[in-house]
Amino acid sequence: MAGPEVSCSLYIHIPFCAGACDYCDFYSVPVSAGDPRLDRYVDALLADGEYTLAAFGIKEVPTLYIGGGTPSLLGPERMGRLLEGIRSLVPAPFPEITVEANPESADGPFLEACRDGGVKRLSLGVQTFHEPSRRLVHRVGEGALLPEGLRLAREYFGGAFSADLITGLPGQNGEALRKDLEKLLSFAPGHVSLYALTPEAGTPLGEEDRFTALLPPADEADRLWLMGRDFLEQAGYGQYEVSNFALPGRASAHNIRYWRMENWLGLGPAASGTVIDDRAGRGTRYTIGADAAAYLGASVGDRAPAPAPAEGAMVSVEALDPLTLMKETCLMGFRRLEGPDPLLFTRRFRRDIRECIPQTLARWRDRGFLRPDKIALNREGLLFLDPFLTDCFGELEVWGGDWLRSFTDL
Ligand code: SF4
Repeated sequence: MAGPEVSCSLYIHIPFCAGACDYCDFYSVPVSAGDPRLDRYVDALLADGEYTLAAFGIKEVPTLYIGGGTPSLLGPERMGRLLEGIRSLVPAPFPEITVEANPESADGPFLEACRDGGVKRLSLGVQTFHEPSRRLVHRVGEGALLPEGLRLAREYFGGAFSADLITGLPGQNGEALRKDLEKLLSFAPGHVSLYALTPEAGTPLGEEDRFTALLPPADEADRLWLMGRDFLEQAGYGQYEVSNFALPGRASAHNIRYWRMENWLGLGPAASGTVIDDRAGRGTRYTIGADAAAYLGASVGDRAPAPAPAEGAMVSVEALDPLTLMKETCLMGFRRLEGPDPLLFTRRFRRDIRECIPQTLARWRDRGFLRPDKIALNREGLLFLDPFLTDCFGELEVWGGDWLRSFTDL
């Protein structure tokens, strides 16, 4: 493992949900709010956090993100205990703390516990108000409870809350999406994530034939997402990443750190962490096994990622060589309308990004898909991120072997 590090973001995974949505490929276990495993889980996270943060020498956590799953299923007491416990492990203030919540379980006491525990941003899983679409994908929670959840989010967090919407759902048309957007924006969130539904392998949506007839055709699904993008932009929400839009000053600092490939640690089953040594252009990624029962049952050294996994531990570790790290820096960086940070790129790889992918940049500039002022895709270019990255990786592969050898020899 690389380290020790001083400043590192932290992600905590809460792998529990009230049910299972047909499109979801996140790791989660169905529970009810009174399940005794929830108490034990908070204990396990705090023990894991203490071990991991100390092992990596973390003195500052610029961003903490508690996601899931459904973190609001923890309820106010457990969430308060988790926030207090994690914050007590690091003396410096946490500039941004985000908690994900589902509107139906984010009641007043829960939001108060979050606010009192230092949470600065709330991220609400709305997805759609359109009841037929919710039913078709077995979206957990009642659509009728969404307005009250959003009203409470506004009351406790002002504009510092985000909401997720999905386009291309079964049963969704332009009119339903327009109503979703109008209703959501009437609560004035500071940030909106607009996701195009993707049938992922291993989910009912990706595996079951019955959805084939229910999903809108690909061109209609594209049209719906573009309609959503234009609606948000006209309402003043600027796109800053493929699926993310924000009012000025409301972008997610935590997610920006992922897209910049800055260091983060993860706690909880299915969480991963990446620690990069910029001087060496190398990194280490660990992934904790997606098994809540094993996580609860393991001793802390077996479920925690540092300093090295013990024999039989539930943590896998992967070394990121310079070329892999460069590809990932492009993969994540070009998601942003700002593009990869050229200074960070040069510091990490001792090479200007324009020297690494000159042909790709020339080709995509000729097509009109690059920003004139940045090494970045423009608004229309972001729609073609995948083929752009295919070109980018192809070019990196061609010269990368020689570069990797010379880089390693330095
Ligand atoms: S509530 Fe969220 S995390 Fe849980 S199954 Fe549904 S989409 Fe997945």
